[in-house]
Amino acid sequence: MMAAPGKLASFRLPPLPTIGELIKLYNLRAEKQLSQNFLLDLRLTDKIVRQAGSLRDAHVCEVGPGPGGLTRSILNAGVSDVLVVEKDTRFIPGLKLLSEAAPGKMRIVHGDILTYRMDRGFTENISKPWGEDPPNLHIIGNLPFNVSTPLIIKWLEAIANRTGPFVYGRTRLTLTFQKEVAERLTASTGSKQRSRLSIMAQYLCTVRNCFTIPGQAFIPKPEVDVGVVHFTPLVQPQIPQPFKLVEKVVRNVFQFRRKHCYKGVEMLFPEMCRLELTQEMMQKADVDPTLRPAELTIPQFRALVDAYAQFCDREPAFLGYEFREELRLKHLSKRRNKTTAKPSGTPPSSQRAC
Ligand code: SAM
Repeated sequence: MMAAPGKLASFRLPPLPTIGELIKLYNLRAEKQLSQNFLLDLRLTDKIVRQAGSLRDAHVCEVGPGPGGLTRSILNAGVSDVLVVEKDTRFIPGLKLLSEAAPGKMRIVHGDILTYRMDRGFTENISKPWGEDPPNLHIIGNLPFNVSTPLIIKWLEAIANRTGPFVYGRTRLTLTFQKEVAERLTASTGSKQRSRLSIMAQYLCTVRNCFTIPGQAFIPKPEVDVGVVHFTPLVQPQIPQPFKLVEKVVRNVFQFRRKHCYKGVEMLFPEMCRLELTQEMMQKADVDPTLRPAELTIPQFRALVDAYAQFCDREPAFLGYEFREELRLKHLSKRRNKTTAKPSGTPPSSQRAC
């Protein structure tokens, strides 16, 4: 009996040494100081890959493949091709073995994902206009936590600017994080985990906390559990302002997370006009100043950022104002005055703006 055409086309990897055998064969001891924790259970790596949705004929970039467990699951999911980016030289021979078992389907980049130019990694013809469905391009990875958090912040900015992996359209991401970070990324209004990261991720993406992997599933076992998070960039960001401006307002509001939100808003302005402008900004945004930062919805953050953008249009010096910098300068000037007993000189330009 003939197999259905779809079945004929589907690819399965031939029998290979297990990931455990490969680790022994190439002496791939996990480097604790590099936070390397491997997944050897292919049912678990299959489960991570399923969170990306259908990968039929997809182009995938896998970040940090290590000994290649997740890579095997990606290859078995019917992808067109996978590009792996691995920093540690020791894994390259094992990855080459895997690529020989999947001819024409796997490219290996020996490099650092924090600097790798993914906008050059795939051909332009896989792109989809931003307003349409996402392209058939996915990023998947189980990276060390000290890499995955700065990386997602970098990629959120790239989503806002449609650069890097997002020159191809609304590229979807399926990534692992420390469980607490996964909870923060997906926390809803009013929840204990609501933080700067929740707003920054959710104003740009639909974010889903898929499932938690217990630490003991990894070799060696990390101190913490791991959360798998899926991101789909939104067609319209919920806050239509430059990323850096959104980041500044959100960071300041969460500065004092247990206090009323106006306390953080105050820090957006130089000391001499702080009280007056904060009151004006809260009124403009129509946000109750006594709400706590975690109680603010994204539309309320949008109203705050819009109001702050108006102040910055009126007085561009506010854009560069950072209250921590003002504190530092004050401290320095106090120390200098103590030694010279002279007046502290001209205030910074943002102060003069008030
Ligand atoms: N994905 C494999 C797994 O699930 O078993 C390995 C996971 S291990 C936690 C993280 C992998 O990311 C390691 O292979 C490590 O060498 C690699 N890695 C760490 N930092 C990286 C970076 N900046 N760029 C690319 N790869 C990196």
